[in-house]
Amino acid sequence: MSRKINCPICLDQGVVLYKKKIGDYIYEFAAHCTCSNGNKYRYDGQSCDKRKSEYYMPSIAEEFDVKELAKENLSLFIDKYGTEKTRKMFSLIEK
Ligand SMILES: [Zn+2]
Repeated sequence: MSRKINCPICLDQGVVLYKKKIGDYIYEFAAHCTCSNGNKYRYDGQSCDKRKSEYYMPSIAEEFDVKELAKENLSLFIDKYGTEKTRKMFSLIEK
């Protein structure tokens, strides 16, 4: 099975869900990606003046080291869909 992805950070979803511990609780958050898929989420809520903060979605770059995240996602993706060749290529990039 082969599939093309343009963005290794969100895997073309535009949004990345992540968990963050605040106090004793773990909450799930969503952040929009910095790629073109994420752009359509960027202005949601922000265009609405009255409830700006409530619907504010941070950029993934504010919450994560996107390089690390991309690397992690890529390795998961390659584990799942990669071929022998892409695995080899990736193991070279990783180092
Ligand atoms: Zn993305």
